[in-house]
Amino acid sequence: MLTLLTNAEIFAPDLLGSGSILIAGEKIAYLGTELPALQAALEVSVHDLGGAPVVPGLIDGHAHITGGGGETGASSRVPPLHLSSFTSAGVTSVVGVLGTDDLTRSTESLVTQTYGLREEGLSAWCHTGGYHIPMTTLTGSARGDIVFLDPVIGVGELALSDHRSSQPTLNEVLRIASESHVAGLMTGKAGIVHFHMGDGPRGLEMLEQAIKTSEIPARVFNPTHVNRNRPLLEQAIALARHGCFIDATAFPDGHIDPGVSAADAYLEFREAGCRIDRFTISSDGGGCLPAFDSDGRLTRFGVGVSQTLPDTLTELVGLGVPLEEALAPLTCNVADLLKLHHKGRLAVGMDADLVILDGDLGVRDVMARGKWHMQDHQTVRRGMYESTK
Ligand code: ZN
Repeated sequence: MLTLLTNAEIFAPDLLGSGSILIAGEKIAYLGTELPALQAALEVSVHDLGGAPVVPGLIDGHAHITGGGGETGASSRVPPLHLSSFTSAGVTSVVGVLGTDDLTRSTESLVTQTYGLREEGLSAWCHTGGYHIPMTTLTGSARGDIVFLDPVIGVGELALSDHRSSQPTLNEVLRIASESHVAGLMTGKAGIVHFHMGDGPRGLEMLEQAIKTSEIPARVFNPTHVNRNRPLLEQAIALARHGCFIDATAFPDGHIDPGVSAADAYLEFREAGCRIDRFTISSDGGGCLPAFDSDGRLTRFGVGVSQTLPDTLTELVGLGVPLEEALAPLTCNVADLLKLHHKGRLAVGMDADLVILDGDLGVRDVMARGKWHMQDHQTVRRGMYESTK
């Protein structure tokens, strides 16, 4: 029940310096420079970290937890993601989405997969809907799903400026945003619409219009994949000035062109004077990463993985960003966007989701809700049907 981490370099993600962290059950019970005195009768598991950095568990705000894909036929449907595909990447919280394939995948299966990951020790939520309109929902409306289903915190990923979208009108987008916003108010949940942005030349025009012509707060409109091409990134920098949270995708190597990496996108945001506390990075894990020619024919295919998140952290630090700053788009910024008040920071009373990094900033140990999932680079907890090979 009690775990004491001593001699830790604590990044909360702000750098707090050397100290110790006491975990009781699923929560952080103490964090500070003192070594807490504990009664001998208490059973405490003590770990001397030898000065290793301890950081908050990463929050992946966009993953296809049921598996995405399906663009090249039924056999291209990606299988559901296993527990350790997240934890081995230092991800302790995830938000599941449906994408292109919101027909053979349903909100029912997404919500159930979310519950499954929770049972296995991860913290998990999901959005209702998918690329298309009319939206797939469980209760019959996005508002109903957010209000009545505990894991559902918003709508997404709704596709815009993409040949795979439903080509929604401004009024349709506003109607959906209003549903999510009002349901968010009723529940204290995020109440956002997470927009999949495609490669189309219209880019973020519709979101610009939506913010200008409605009373809905800008934070409700949350575009992702904004780094997939340069014009879109420049539009995102302009849109951010309205107060939106902007999400970049950590594409794997070989899938960045013609866009820019999430790390480079962050630097451009910072240099443009945008609010860097409103910049987040997600993996698109389990989603397909297709490229199409002008006839809409598939020319390339890949699958996103959460590992690109810690890789992006390393890249950011390599580009000269201090670790405490580089952590924010992967931890506290995401928690703020999603209103996950007990996530994304290390502090007393917060959930015990943390990652211990090695000398190369690689993921060495991972604790999710107070339980070890990775120890010394080894996965120690697996999903029910995961191979141990
Ligand atoms: Zn997408």
